[in-house]
Amino acid sequence: MFESQYNDEMEAEVKHLEAQMRAINAGHPEWLNACSGCGCELTGIENSRCEKCR
Ligand SMILES: [Zn+2]
Repeated sequence: MFESQYNDEMEAEVKHLEAQMRAINAGHPEWLNACSGCGCELTGIENSRCEKCR
């Protein structure tokens, strides 16, 4: 129980860091997330690419 919850939190943290890295790479460290294809801003952290690049 505890372990799977811990992994979920780790996964969410990793997702968040990856999203932030994409934003930084796109030149906008203030963004929450950015598309890894065209570098546009993404509002959520669930996706790594926008709808055009998917
Ligand atoms: Zn894109």
